[in-house]
Amino acid sequence: MSLNDAEIVIVGGGAVGCAMAYALTQAGQRDVLLIEKQPGLGEVTTSQGAGLCGQVRDTAERTRLAMVSAKTFAQLQRDADVRPDWHAVGSIRIAESAANAARFRELKTVADEAKLETELLDRAEASKLWPAIDFRRAEAVLWCPTDGYMRPKDVVNTYRHHAEKSGAKFATGVAVEGFDLVNGRVDGVRTNQGRIACKTVINAAGAHAYHIARLAGIELPIVPVRHEYFISVPMPGLRPDLPCFRVPDTGLYGRCEQDRLLLGGWETKALRTDPRSYDLPGAPPPVEPDWPVLKQFAQDFTGLLPGTSDVKMDRVGRGWPTFTPDGRFILGPSCRVPGFVMAGGCNAHGISGSPGLGQLLVEAMFEKKPSEYVQSLSPDRFTEIKWDWQMAAVAAQRVYETYYGARESSAAGV
Ligand SMILES: Cc1cc2nc3c(=O)[nH]c(=O)nc-3n(C[C@H](O)[C@H](O)[C@H](O)COP(=O)(O)OP(=O)(O)OC[C@H]3O[C@@H](n4cnc5c(N)ncnc54)[C@H](O)[C@@H]3O)c2cc1C
Repeated sequence: MSLNDAEIVIVGGGAVGCAMAYALTQAGQRDVLLIEKQPGLGEVTTSQGAGLCGQVRDTAERTRLAMVSAKTFAQLQRDADVRPDWHAVGSIRIAESAANAARFRELKTVADEAKLETELLDRAEASKLWPAIDFRRAEAVLWCPTDGYMRPKDVVNTYRHHAEKSGAKFATGVAVEGFDLVNGRVDGVRTNQGRIACKTVINAAGAHAYHIARLAGIELPIVPVRHEYFISVPMPGLRPDLPCFRVPDTGLYGRCEQDRLLLGGWETKALRTDPRSYDLPGAPPPVEPDWPVLKQFAQDFTGLLPGTSDVKMDRVGRGWPTFTPDGRFILGPSCRVPGFVMAGGCNAHGISGSPGLGQLLVEAMFEKKPSEYVQSLSPDRFTEIKWDWQMAAVAAQRVYETYYGARESSAAGV
């Protein structure tokens, strides 16, 4: 394959980069080349994803964006030879405090506004959906029938399949090392395999998106925060068609992986790393399973699913998803460096959000007047004002720690 030139070069072959290739080709762009430094696609953060896709969000805009994702996964599952392995099992959100029960009512109002089907269930109705869960301490249960989960690697392969059919090219084992700018504008990408002439570069490099932006002279607060889940050994009463679940009071989420439990959680004291502490050829620190943290997830879930605290963990998913100080994606062209486009800072929903992100990227790149929402995601919000690394990193970490909203301190472990 010729790597000499392309109209648009995408850097990074995780869920986000592959989704951008898919969205661009769907929008009629043909001369798209994705380059990935690993031997295969989706091998870094994406391969570790739990695969949940939830549409209940705190604003109608975000809800609609998530609805695009669920709809796209469902459609790709129906249409393609290669499928994302989408399971539309629905999801339940369980409140264990009055505060979260009240919040669920607000979320339901937002869902109604966005025309997302949701329902507040009583305990008996919830038990029918998830017989093994003990709902006696549930103050409220919010059900979204069109939520589900997919397999991240299959999602990536599905995007590739469709994008290639429409003319996009994918090259693995190719690492970006620099950019050529002419009069401040992107003119080419320098890689370990030579130069690629191009007018547009899309930065979808995950935990290296900070470094790739630096190569173009842009400093962005893209903060990797450690995240983990475990998959148990087989447990009685678990089936792959049971709904995904989220428990905001304990920050837990999960689903069934066949007859095993996948259980993850948002820690109240998260561990972040500074992207300036490792370089582009390097990597963030390796993530070893943090057994005390994982055991705490199991312990916190045992009131809802008896026996979880003693369950044997079979496998641990872990990595460094990236967070931003305002909890928003960083998406769209930079006003500083014409031709340089961002697709990063996914705040741990880069896989589930990827179809919606693709649509927004196309709008950001080709619409004369993108919507206010799209404009609000622009990298310019960090390049045209002064900001401080320490404050930005603390704020990004806080986004992680309050993923399902601020926690009632007394609620955890009750
Ligand atoms: C434990 C865990 C559970 C998660 N669960 C979910 C979930 O349920 N749902 C969800 O939506 N999200 C989940 N996430 C978050 C999700 O995994 C990320 O948001 C998503 O994978 C980000 O995708 P990406 O393409 O931006 O990054 P990545 O998948 O990391 O891809 C970036 C790519 O860029 C490449 N790259 C870097 N530097 C270069 C270079 N110089 N040249 C060329 N290529 C380069 C890398 O090799 C890499 O493949 C989870 C994350 C973790 C860690």
